[in-house]
Amino acid sequence: MPTPTKDFYRILGVAENASADEIKKTYRKLAKKYHPDANPNDASAAEKFKEVSEAYSVLSDEDKRKQYDQMRKLGAFGGFGGGGGMGGFGRQPGGAPGAGAPGSAGGFSFDDIGDVGGLGDLFGSIFDFGKRRGGAGGREGGPQRGESVEYAVEIPFQTAVRGGKLPITVPITEDCPTCHGSGAKPGTDLVTCPECKGRGNIVFGQGGFAVTRPCPACGGKGKVPTDPCPTCEGRGQLRQQRQIQVTVPAGVDTGSKIRLPGQGEKGAGGGPAGDLLVTFRVQPDRFFSRDGLDIVCTVPINLAQATLGSRIRVRTVDDKRVVLRIPAGTQSGTRFRIKGQGVEKDGRRGDQYVRVQVSVPEELDDRERKLMEEFAEAAGLKY
Ligand SMILES: [Zn+2]
Ligand SMILES: [Zn+2]
Repeated sequence: MPTPTKDFYRILGVAENASADEIKKTYRKLAKKYHPDANPNDASAAEKFKEVSEAYSVLSDEDKRKQYDQMRKLGAFGGFGGGGGMGGFGRQPGGAPGAGAPGSAGGFSFDDIGDVGGLGDLFGSIFDFGKRRGGAGGREGGPQRGESVEYAVEIPFQTAVRGGKLPITVPITEDCPTCHGSGAKPGTDLVTCPECKGRGNIVFGQGGFAVTRPCPACGGKGKVPTDPCPTCEGRGQLRQQRQIQVTVPAGVDTGSKIRLPGQGEKGAGGGPAGDLLVTFRVQPDRFFSRDGLDIVCTVPINLAQATLGSRIRVRTVDDKRVVLRIPAGTQSGTRFRIKGQGVEKDGRRGDQYVRVQVSVPEELDDRERKLMEEFAEAAGLKY
């Protein structure tokens, strides 16, 4: 990845040795062109405007520009991950969304460069260090809240309507049960990490500035096992299938979410665990369907029931049978309402709508045919 992920000079379209005046003029021109007021509802213009502003906020400040130039010279852009010694410093898999250029392997973030104060902040925001989980700890090694985990689950129609318990299995990174997170084979020792001398961080860079990174050799813990745990191969953590009993509230629909606090990934450095967000997808039912809080179903009735009237028994979502009176002369497609037999949610309950479909006999024997012809004649039906 030799290409810089964010080249402020390229973004503004100016030469590296452009004067402050030139930079200002170019910025004004671009800012005018991409300003959100001039480009309503244009996301790419808004993105461009943000980029240009970021670039200008650094290049317009003499001190920041000097530091930025130094980093460029040292190959900070695109240099990481390329050279052997620096390998593994890229963003962790599944990197933070929204930061840096989409798809850029370097993944530097300039998200909060707009309010940079000191030099440390500038580097902090440029390198986006330590924001990820994975035992690396926070930017300063402090407690970090664990990641929230999203999980989609299919639930039977009836469970969605009535609520209930649902066991789910969620992949979560947990402390290895063999070594309890230390990464050392039980009975063996941990020694001070030779890479970071036990500090858990590595400082690199030179001269007037330095960048601190969680140590990749020990994952920021400052200690490494002499004999790695065979279960987790020394990582201290394992991807586990965690069994969770989810209480499905009555009335959820496809797309409904519930949040289970503390059931996500565990935090780093003593930080709290993230949450688990469960999204439901309701399986279709062969008989029932839903329309908001109402339940809709279709029931076949025969010709005699439709013309002479009848009483039919209709199943409800509660598995009850309700008697529905079909009046004489009911047309196919007529909808009947069974009050209060819909979905109950937040103290309100919908109704059940029963659509009747009149089925006509497909075959008639001689006698039936004769009677039907007589009936048609009596009723004056032409056919
Ligand atoms: Zn282990
Ligand atoms: Zn270390």
